[in-house]
Amino acid sequence: MPRRTLSQQSFFDPEYVMPDCLQEGTVPWLLAKYRSFLMPQWLFHGWRGEGPRGRKAWPAEVLMTLLLLRWTEDGMSRLGSTKRALTDVAWRAAMGLCLRASTPTEKTVREFEAFLREAHPEVGTARYVLFHEHIVRQCIEEGVIDKTAVWAMDSTPMWCYGAVKDTVRLLGDGVGKLARYWAKATKQSLEDIAEAWSVPFILGKSTKGALGIDWRDSEARANALDRVAQGVLRAVEWVRSSIQEAKNSKRKRLLRTCRHLLRVVSDNLETDTAGRLVVAERVAKDRIISLTDPEARHGRKSKNSLFNGYKLHLLGDVVSGIIASVTVTRGNEHDGKVAHRLIRRAKKLHDEIELVLGDTAYGAAELHYVVREETRVSLLTPPPSRTSKPFGRESLQIDFEAKTATCSAGVTTDIHQRVWSKEYDCETSAFRWPKDACKGCRLRDSCLGSRQGAKYVRLHPFESELRQIRDEWEKPEVREAYRIRIECERLVNQLTRHGGRQARSQGLHGAHLQGHAIAITSNLQLLARVLAERE
Ligand code: SF4
Repeated sequence: MPRRTLSQQSFFDPEYVMPDCLQEGTVPWLLAKYRSFLMPQWLFHGWRGEGPRGRKAWPAEVLMTLLLLRWTEDGMSRLGSTKRALTDVAWRAAMGLCLRASTPTEKTVREFEAFLREAHPEVGTARYVLFHEHIVRQCIEEGVIDKTAVWAMDSTPMWCYGAVKDTVRLLGDGVGKLARYWAKATKQSLEDIAEAWSVPFILGKSTKGALGIDWRDSEARANALDRVAQGVLRAVEWVRSSIQEAKNSKRKRLLRTCRHLLRVVSDNLETDTAGRLVVAERVAKDRIISLTDPEARHGRKSKNSLFNGYKLHLLGDVVSGIIASVTVTRGNEHDGKVAHRLIRRAKKLHDEIELVLGDTAYGAAELHYVVREETRVSLLTPPPSRTSKPFGRESLQIDFEAKTATCSAGVTTDIHQRVWSKEYDCETSAFRWPKDACKGCRLRDSCLGSRQGAKYVRLHPFESELRQIRDEWEKPEVREAYRIRIECERLVNQLTRHGGRQARSQGLHGAHLQGHAIAITSNLQLLARVLAERE
């Protein structure tokens, strides 16, 4: 990789004034020396300031450098990063700014982030994803990965940016928000709106305080919730029927808030015998937990550990530490659902990936099958737990080629058929044993219990794959090879210690960009070390 030449420096260059400001092998050093090679022009095509007309704009390379520097330590706010850029000499050197030059404002950085989230016109993929892929390719070219690479994937919680509230506050604060939007859109006072909608509690400092009840009294609590919910329904009805009165530019936001409020009511409440809206016994699975961050969800890291927000998924090499593929989903998304996408993207960048280690969340037989067929990558994970039925499908010896099954008594049947399984929602194989064979069997009582007739067993849709995973897992050498998967925690730690634990903006799009920016910075750190050693 060629390096920037000294002839490009000026007397106001931070490196000229403070020659030691950039430490070799760090991300600011790498960005200062190799910025133009790390950031290809085609990636930022369409950014403002390209044409001959209009105001001068900040170069995309400078803004991209600032965006990356933001995640080099433990993560900071957008505003914090612009303030740091004003005073930090190393950051200025990395951005290529002279000491007396101004720095981009927070608004410019926000607009540049929105630009990065857009799909590239020629490729159709978000620009930050393309940039991440570009950096991974650079790392591979420069020899960050060697032959001993071990690929593994995992996920970790990312707390959402918006406030997570209980149902009363979610609805009360939500209708307050709707009233404020409506007041702005129609130029009315909040007091008039509160009176027209019969929701006086929106004028108080807090919803719960304004309701003025004893919150230990369950009856009063139920009545208060009903009052709030009815107020929400009235407000939504009002806004929807009078939307023409609002300014054109405000209508979309108003209708979106109405939609979210109705979703909160339908997900969390039900009508009791007295006709009141009360908290439902079973709330909806995919319910909204924050109106400021409506895409955030309750998630579960383990049986006893809950979190609110998103999940950060990654796939990388545990030996070198490179993160080849990363994505963010809602907190309630199962790890197995995105595994295929992660592997496909990593395989596209590095064709030599043949085996990926994962935990039990990636143990589904269907996932193993789909990944192998589509990407030619094998998954190594602990198998799913066995069913507890002693004479169930796991006790059978099955010849998948000949389509025969042998039961515990040694009776082989070839009565095979394809049936619909409600449990798996797809077609699957089933075996039936001849009535006569079961009639005189010594194991009949244990095998069939009180049931009459012949034995009938329905298989798992990916039974052969499942058996293969279990057989593999029994081998001591496979278990030994799997032990290195624990090192994947280091990759997770790479993301979380640079700010991946907490989303810094609202919505899934922002979390996605943040996850990729941290992964890029983490990869740049590896690249910087390799290039510094070489120099
Ligand atoms: S009852 Fe039928 S299926 Fe069950 S063990 Fe005996 S022969 Fe096999």
